Amino acid sequence: MSRTGEFEFIAQSLAPLAAGYEGAFGLTDDAALLAMSSGLTVTSDTLVQGVHFRNEDPLDLVARKALRVNVSDLVAMAAKPHAFLLSIVWPETVAADDQMRFVDGLAADAHQYSMPLIGGDTVRGGDRLVITITAFGEVERPLRRSGARPGDRVFVSGTIGDGWLGLHADDLDLPDPVRNVLKDRYMLPQPPVALIEALRATATAGLDVSDGLAADADHLSTTSGAGIDLQLASVPVSAAARQWLVKQANQTDAMVSLITGGDDYEMLFCVADHQVDQMMSAAIDVRIDVTEIGLICDGSGVRVFDEKGDIVQILKTGFTHF
Ligand SMILES: [Mg+2]
Repeated sequence: MSRTGEFEFIAQSLAPLAAGYEGAFGLTDDAALLAMSSGLTVTSDTLVQGVHFRNEDPLDLVARKALRVNVSDLVAMAAKPHAFLLSIVWPETVAADDQMRFVDGLAADAHQYSMPLIGGDTVRGGDRLVITITAFGEVERPLRRSGARPGDRVFVSGTIGDGWLGLHADDLDLPDPVRNVLKDRYMLPQPPVALIEALRATATAGLDVSDGLAADADHLSTTSGAGIDLQLASVPVSAAARQWLVKQANQTDAMVSLITGGDDYEMLFCVADHQVDQMMSAAIDVRIDVTEIGLICDGSGVRVFDEKGDIVQILKTGFTHF
C-alpha cells in the first residue's frame, strides 16, 4: 500500500472501529490515550498466514479469530475487554475486497465484545498476511494461574475438542452439517466473556484452553505448585464431537485426542469447595455451561483417570508454538 493508500485505508476503513473511544482520537494522532477506571491488563497475539490460519480461510473469519484469541486471554485473567491495537502486514498482492472483508469481520467482533480499535499500524510487504492484535482489559484483581490449592475443584467451560476436530474436519467421516459445526468452532472460538464476573467472585486460579486441556492443566499445575487429577469421562463433549467419538474404535484414545488437540478457547479454572455453589449459580445466570472435571491435590503434574480409575497415559501434551 502506498503511504496515501495506507492513510486512506485507516481513515475510511479502520477509523470507524475507533468510534466512541475518545482517547483513540479517531486514529488521527501518534498514540492513543487509555482511559481506565480500574487496573489494566494487556495481551498480544500474532497470527501468520500459512502457519496459524490457512491461505484459503476467509479473511473476515481470520480477523474475528485474531481478536477472539486475545479476548480469550483477557477472560483468562478475569479482565473485561476494553480496547485493542491492530498491527497488520498485508501481502503485496492483497485485493481491496479481501481488505474490506477483513475489516468487516473485525468490526463485527469489535462491536460484539465492546472493544474499540484505538491504534496500531498497517504496512504492506512480503507474501503473507501477518496480524498482531494487542488487547487491553480492565481488572481489579487479575485471575492468575498460581492460586490453585489442594481441595479446589476443577472446572471447564463449554465443550472440549471441537476446535481440534474442526481443524481436521475435511478428513473426518462425518455428515457435512456436523463437519460445518466443527469447522465453525475452529474458525470462530466463543470465549466465555459472560463468565468474567463469576470468575472474579469465585475462582482461585484459571487460564484459557488454547494448547489443549491436558497441556493447559499442566501449565496451571506447574504455576500453582499442586497436582491436578482429571476424570476423562467428565470432560464435556459437544453433540458434534460425540458423533465423531462413537465411530472411534478406542474411546479412551479418542478422548485423549480431544484433550490434547487445542484451539478450544474455553476456560479451565479452580474453585474452592465452599464457593462452588455460588459459581455454579452465577454460571447458570449468564447461561455458560461449566462442568466439573477434576480436583487439585497435593503433589505435582496432571494425572488423567479413565472410568475404571486407571491412569491414562498422555503422550502428546498439546500444541507447541515454537
Ligand atoms: Mg492464554
